[in-house]
Amino acid sequence: MKPLPNLSFWEQQWLKNADILIIGSGMVGLQTARHIKNQWPHREVWVIDRAPISLGASTRNAGFACFGSMGEILDDISRTDENTAYALYEKRYKGLQQLLEDFGETAIGYEKTGGYEIFTPEDLAEYETIAANIDKVNSALDSVAGEKPFQMKSTSKLGMKVLENGVYTPLEGMVQTHLLYKKVQEAAIVAGVRIMGGLTALPPEKLDSGKWRVNTNEGYRFDARNLVVCTNGYAAHLLPELEVLPARGQVLVTSSIPGLAWRGLMHADKGYIYFRSLGTRILIGGGRNLDFEGETTPELETSQHITQYLENYLRDVVVPGETFEIEHQWAGTMGMHQNRTPIVQRMDEGLYACVRMGGMGVALSAVVSREMAALMKETQ
Ligand SMILES: Cc1cc2nc3c(=O)[nH]c(=O)nc-3n(C[C@H](O)[C@H](O)[C@H](O)COP(=O)(O)OP(=O)(O)OC[C@H]3O[C@@H](n4cnc5c(N)ncnc54)[C@H](O)[C@@H]3O)c2cc1C
Repeated sequence: MKPLPNLSFWEQQWLKNADILIIGSGMVGLQTARHIKNQWPHREVWVIDRAPISLGASTRNAGFACFGSMGEILDDISRTDENTAYALYEKRYKGLQQLLEDFGETAIGYEKTGGYEIFTPEDLAEYETIAANIDKVNSALDSVAGEKPFQMKSTSKLGMKVLENGVYTPLEGMVQTHLLYKKVQEAAIVAGVRIMGGLTALPPEKLDSGKWRVNTNEGYRFDARNLVVCTNGYAAHLLPELEVLPARGQVLVTSSIPGLAWRGLMHADKGYIYFRSLGTRILIGGGRNLDFEGETTPELETSQHITQYLENYLRDVVVPGETFEIEHQWAGTMGMHQNRTPIVQRMDEGLYACVRMGGMGVALSAVVSREMAALMKETQ
């Protein structure tokens, strides 16, 4: 920590004014702040972030407004149990409806394109498992959206080197990530939340007064009656008892491919590969399962072996024979654990955590942020 700057009397008055401090200005932190502010309009609700705009997952994701493919749901069942996996699907589905209601389709660039889960010939065994389970999963989930989410569908029009049938869902769509983030941020500001970027929080300390003290790397200090940690994949830096690990997610965007035969969302390899159309470009992400250990990292550099794997997948499977360049690449950080259920928890008097959004936190964010605000109200 740098030494404290010589703060003026006025700055000191300002800084001691936060009633509720939220660390992390991602989708979850900003929506949590908005709901808390709406709940208690007279309290000062502040959000701090290490970066001028968010720097984790919310501004670096793939823009899938999705709930989980068949492969991901079966994978979740194998990690937990059917009820837990179906409840998570329902939470994500409801979260998306809530996001659309809160911000409007046009404002966030939402397009209900539907999406496929596709399988290469090497994925035949996975395809057969999914085909054998589709009726069971559909029956368990048809009450959520009022229709069966999954159907087998021909992939012949996609122009990909994949098995002739995939699993299609008409229920999901895509957002423009920057537009969604902009609306989430604007809504927090309109509600009266103060957002300050460029402040990296250090682990909180409880004061005798019952307040929580947060020093920042830059030498600022906040004392707040209530503190909410919304730092997702970075949460264990602040609260080591939280079971959440940073998981790097890498993304590539191609140049324009004028002959692109399809539009929409695509899932493959149990969700470890995902790609979507971006106009006539393709955005592809994933590949973490090539090196789970190496990708359990908060680092935001891309790594050559994963980006090469994704590029090869594009050239060999997705658009064989097309000419394109990789024009953009980046990495973001997810908050993961073997159990993919988010943590919405009171950790101590006045200390809360809303973290571990996994690989599909866009839709979840609208639900968990409301749960966090309600939990704070119940426990005051
Ligand atoms: C590459 C990638 C692709 C993804 N694609 C999708 C997708 O298509 N659809 C989907 O639903 N989900 C996707 N996700 C997941 C989704 O983006 C996240 O689940 C969601 O954005 C989590 O939001 P959050 O606010 O909890 O966390 P974050 O957005 O990570 O926000 C956490 C914030 O905490 C800040 N922070 C961290 N430590 C500190 C500190 N010490 N002090 C101050 N600030 C700090 C960070 O700067 C960051 O702004 C993807 C994630 C990645 C990485």
